[in-house]
Amino acid sequence: MIEERFDAIVVGAGMAGNAAALTMAKRGLKVLQIERGEYPGSKNVQGAILYADMLEKLVPDFREDAPLERHLVEQRFWMMDGKSHTGLHHRSDDFNEEKPNRYTIIRAQFDKWLSSRAQEAGAVVLCETTVKELVQDAYGKVIGVITDRDGGEVHADVVVLAEGVNGLLGTKASLRERPTPDNVALAVKEMHFLPRETIEARFNLKGDEGVVIEAAGTISAGMTGMGFLYTNKESISIGIGCLVADFQKSGETPYDLLDRFKKHPSIAPLIEGSEVKEYAGHLIPEGGYNAIPQLYGDGWVVVGDAAQLNNAMHREGSNLAMTSGRIAGEAIFQVKSRKDPMTKQNLALYKKMLDDSFVIKDLKKYKDMPGLLHIQSQNFFLTYPQLVNKALQNFVRVDGTPKIEKEKTTIKSFVSARSWGGLFGDAFRFARAWR
Ligand SMILES: Cc1cc2nc3c(=O)[nH]c(=O)nc-3n(C[C@H](O)[C@H](O)[C@H](O)COP(=O)(O)OP(=O)(O)OC[C@H]3O[C@@H](n4cnc5c(N)ncnc54)[C@H](O)[C@@H]3O)c2cc1C
Repeated sequence: MIEERFDAIVVGAGMAGNAAALTMAKRGLKVLQIERGEYPGSKNVQGAILYADMLEKLVPDFREDAPLERHLVEQRFWMMDGKSHTGLHHRSDDFNEEKPNRYTIIRAQFDKWLSSRAQEAGAVVLCETTVKELVQDAYGKVIGVITDRDGGEVHADVVVLAEGVNGLLGTKASLRERPTPDNVALAVKEMHFLPRETIEARFNLKGDEGVVIEAAGTISAGMTGMGFLYTNKESISIGIGCLVADFQKSGETPYDLLDRFKKHPSIAPLIEGSEVKEYAGHLIPEGGYNAIPQLYGDGWVVVGDAAQLNNAMHREGSNLAMTSGRIAGEAIFQVKSRKDPMTKQNLALYKKMLDDSFVIKDLKKYKDMPGLLHIQSQNFFLTYPQLVNKALQNFVRVDGTPKIEKEKTTIKSFVSARSWGGLFGDAFRFARAWR
């Protein structure tokens, strides 16, 4: 056993763990952070869009040396069928501001950098070490961890579980349930490398400007899911994900979906000639508010994806992870500075502070996320994308058909696919989801 005792042990060096370790180390707490990967970020997968506001709260001067790719000036939302897409695009020069709002990043580089900030602040980071289980005393209080190293038991006043979506440690210690297939999505992602000038010409970009494409429709074969394409400096991240329960039911495989997405005539020219250097698959928690487990107990708190803190509707996860990690670190510091013990009662402060933040306020809006995502998924991800694309093509194609006939054809195609009642019902459900 390592005799040295720590104020806090953080399990995992992803967004949530690094935020917690940095926050506590900056305030003078003695922190040990344990990461199973070769280095922080080596195991982590993200699109990846980074939300600057939440990072700025942790590292106000991050723009000076963080490994950022492109700042985003344009967002494209595409509704796709087999051969077409209908898009809603927002591009603004306002995003070329002095302190841009969103950036693309590469997690392997970013996590290493954020971890270096935690280490500079005094956190001890131990990589290539897996925490096998939590140590609990006779009353069930978490008092440390057991790692896969020789004599690898270490003790601390509190353990921060930042172990990501699978949350195996928490489940093993009966602190939370295992996530169910309708509460998690499985996403696959590839990195396509291209010369910088090619990316800038294809996406109409100058300097470090970047574009994001979020795509839904027949690409997910009727399942609830989305595709994405993000521009980095010299690469393009492209991926797709759907709920695990949907994959189970449909028998579709994620790599087949990604293959079809890449071959779509709207996507293929954007990645043409690229060299694929990385392929990754990862789960994303999408259960919403109702899936959030108990967030604290005697001697422990849980943060980030391990706490299911992910907003699938808005494609946000890393910012919820960073914020929950930071808030957990601040709460632990407050308890410690009052010289109070790390009991369940005292650590409830973390939950209270999280409730007051955007994290829980946003997730409360989507209490039953799987229910919401599953509403008429065949209609929203198959029927409507096909109808909308057909209608738009009918609208722009000039072929001598009188406009009044074109309008009648379009209305008829919608009403024959869904009754008037069905159409109004779906419109109502869609509006309610976004209210
Ligand atoms: C394909 C994809 C695209 C995404 N795109 C975006 C996006 O664009 N923007 C966004 O905000 N979010 C996005 N997300 C979500 C985002 O990646 C997560 O919300 C975020 O990574 C969660 O951070 P975390 O620190 O909680 O978990 P993770 O980043 O998963 O970190 C957990 C860490 O714990 C370590 N670990 C696990 N178990 C142990 C153990 N027993 N012992 C030691 N170490 C352990 C792991 O190795 C890992 O380093 C995306 C996710 C995926 C899969």
